[in-house]
Amino acid sequence: MVALDVLRSLCKRRGFVFQASEIYGGFESTWDFGPLGVELKRRIADAWWRDMVVSREDIVGIDSAILQSPKVWDTSGHVSGFNDPLVDCKTCQGRFRADQLQESACPRKPSKHPGEHGDCDLTEPRQFNMMFKTRVGPVEDSAAIAYLRPETAQGIFTNFLNVQQSMRLKLPFGIAQIGKSFRNEIVTGNFFFRTREFEQMEMEYFCRPEQAADLYGYWIKERLNWYHSIGISPDNLRAEEHAEKDLAHYAAACTDIEYRYPWGWGELEGIANRTDFDLNAHAQATGKKLQWMDPQTNEWITPHVVEPAAGLTRTVLVALMDAYDDETLEDGSERNVLRFHPRIAPVTLAVFPLVKKEGMPEKAREILKRYLDRFPCLYDAGGAIGRRYRRQDEIGTPFCATVDGQTLEDGTVTLRDRDTMKQDRVKIEALGDHIDEASRR
Ligand code: ATP
Repeated sequence: MVALDVLRSLCKRRGFVFQASEIYGGFESTWDFGPLGVELKRRIADAWWRDMVVSREDIVGIDSAILQSPKVWDTSGHVSGFNDPLVDCKTCQGRFRADQLQESACPRKPSKHPGEHGDCDLTEPRQFNMMFKTRVGPVEDSAAIAYLRPETAQGIFTNFLNVQQSMRLKLPFGIAQIGKSFRNEIVTGNFFFRTREFEQMEMEYFCRPEQAADLYGYWIKERLNWYHSIGISPDNLRAEEHAEKDLAHYAAACTDIEYRYPWGWGELEGIANRTDFDLNAHAQATGKKLQWMDPQTNEWITPHVVEPAAGLTRTVLVALMDAYDDETLEDGSERNVLRFHPRIAPVTLAVFPLVKKEGMPEKAREILKRYLDRFPCLYDAGGAIGRRYRRQDEIGTPFCATVDGQTLEDGTVTLRDRDTMKQDRVKIEALGDHIDEASRR
């Protein structure tokens, strides 16, 4: 498993992820996605959107505002209940989550947990609300307070009627959303595993109350399969059900899809049975009837909700960790490879002219142009072919096509596979299907 500092340095060197405000010495727990990082993130988000929304008749998407009425967060329970227990150490001024002391290190003596070292002097835990507060408009009074959303889900619940009516949806149906969320986390870190600004991919699946238990099981399986479909190794994934005492204030049951991070198993996605908690709470607070009428029986139903809530930025980190490989070849040389699945690789096809003459660069650019609309492509004419292959291996490009003398005669290129390093002659017009075929595996 890749060490975090190795991954961090690769991410910076090859343009995946940079420390935010780096030229000012950085800003705690914030990261910027570089040219390859943003492409990886978009492709993961696109794969999710395609599988969760586009290819399904029962799910639609929305994109709601980050700033909502503060009343939304009163009703959802986030103002009173979205707290983490915080403890301070009076000796070292360290701040820790009281429920995660066993996973934290004492800053004075990192081999010990906070509270276990003789000099530690921890305060009693106090509740710390994790929502970011801001002010809306120029007036600085308490009526102007608003919050940055800590989850995308509430924008879905508040639009339940708008979406259901405008799209004439019948139960069961889902509403999906991808977007930023903000949490003033007490402890951040492990590269961009836990940050204060992050992106989520959430879907609320509304159903009849009696369907919720089955759908909860269905979505756990679906979501695990989805991670397999973007190439995350099944050995590094597992589903763990929460004990009742650990459930969030809105959930009747919750299972985490966990990944085997370099520091141990941890959450990647949470699948919760939220019951009718949110719709009921918003209906009560607003006096609106957030229900659906069964056209067969004329009965009004308050739907129950199963929610698969994934972290997009966290999935980017998992994709990087899982793809990383440091391989020793038969000749004893080392090769750094990111084994991204072709569905999510930031570059799917790199096209090289063998030499910068005899019309090869022009031909290579022609191929690039032909396939750019189909998947991300890149042109590279710099240096020996072997070096060019290594550069693509390091950023995870699954296929490299080289234009050589024969190309100009018979319209074929050598297609080199990142993982097997095998080379085949393939007709230029067959490249797209060949790559699509591999992407479906
Ligand atoms: P944790 O217990 O780790 O704080 P959570 O259970 O509060 O997380 P959820 O509310 O279930 O997380 O959020 C759904 C998903 O959003 C998580 O599985 C994770 O992928 C992502 N996520 C939540 N908080 C963060 C964060 N601070 N940074 C990055 N991703 C996050």
